[in-house]
Amino acid sequence: LSQGLQELKDQPAMTPDGHRVSLLANSGLFADINAARDSGAEGVGLYRSEMHFFLRDRFPGEDEQTETYARVLASMAPRPVTLRTLDVGGDKPLPYFPIEEQNPFLGWRGIRISLDQPDIFKTQLRAILRAAAQTGAENVSVLFPMITVVAELDEALELLRRAHAELAEDGVTVNMPRVGVMIEVPAAVCQIELLAQRVDFVSVGSNDLTQYLLAVDRNNDRVAKLYDSLNPAVLGVMQWLVERARRVGVPVSVCGEMAGDPAAALLLLGMGVDSLSMSLGNLMKVKWMIRSVPLSAARDTLTEALTLDCAQKIRARVDEALLAHG
Ligand code: PEP
Ligand code: MG
Repeated sequence: LSQGLQELKDQPAMTPDGHRVSLLANSGLFADINAARDSGAEGVGLYRSEMHFFLRDRFPGEDEQTETYARVLASMAPRPVTLRTLDVGGDKPLPYFPIEEQNPFLGWRGIRISLDQPDIFKTQLRAILRAAAQTGAENVSVLFPMITVVAELDEALELLRRAHAELAEDGVTVNMPRVGVMIEVPAAVCQIELLAQRVDFVSVGSNDLTQYLLAVDRNNDRVAKLYDSLNPAVLGVMQWLVERARRVGVPVSVCGEMAGDPAAALLLLGMGVDSLSMSLGNLMKVKWMIRSVPLSAARDTLTEALTLDCAQKIRARVDEALLAHG
């Protein structure tokens, strides 16, 4: 088996009918960066930069952040790394930045904090750009979390341009990184074309998107049975989204837990998603699925799945398809 796994690690994530999908790792700590590099992941599709902030007792400064991001980029080079800007608040409060709210998931979180605290945000953007300059990495993307309205994306892009221009004045020259927008709020789905036109790629945060579409707290055991990314409404919305983003010509990635579930990943493959970013532990399972199920079969399974009325029936249908091809 281990020899089989080793072989699988070196093989491309390509369906039997020749369709290529990028398989990337989710990460946020140095420990998993090394593991990601050795795992057969094609890059890091989601670097959760807040992890670094949690390990401190104050906001890390520009030099400290530069060093961290440079280390991440250098470890993965030449493979691509997508650095997500600070995504705290909600279920991820920073110990040294207390936020008291009745509804943290509907409150001050992600890009909302960054835009309200432009000094903290700009420090992070400058550090990302300096790290890219230092390592000469051509493979850097910046990803903005929790975008709800178009104006937030415009403001974040403007701050990135300003950070870039300031650094150029200081003699630090670096290519502008690729920029992506996370789609995890239903309103962002509705505006997908306007958002996608402004960026190089979109990355679906299916953990939050599922929570907000179903109005189910992703961490509440009492309602956990309702929380399912295979819910037909969630799948229908995802398909709608992928189709529109691709019509604008912008690639779509999925970086929530859904991407690492072989059954869900089969349906995402059928939708035409370009890349999947997941916890390392799921990478080989998903690669095995992709190398076993033809794109045509994934599309047919998706079409059938979308006629079913609940997540349980959908999972059963996809499991049949997995068995038939495995
Ligand atoms: C998501 O919401 O799907 C996501 C990838 O972001 P996080 O899990 O860090 O909120
Ligand atoms: Mg999220």
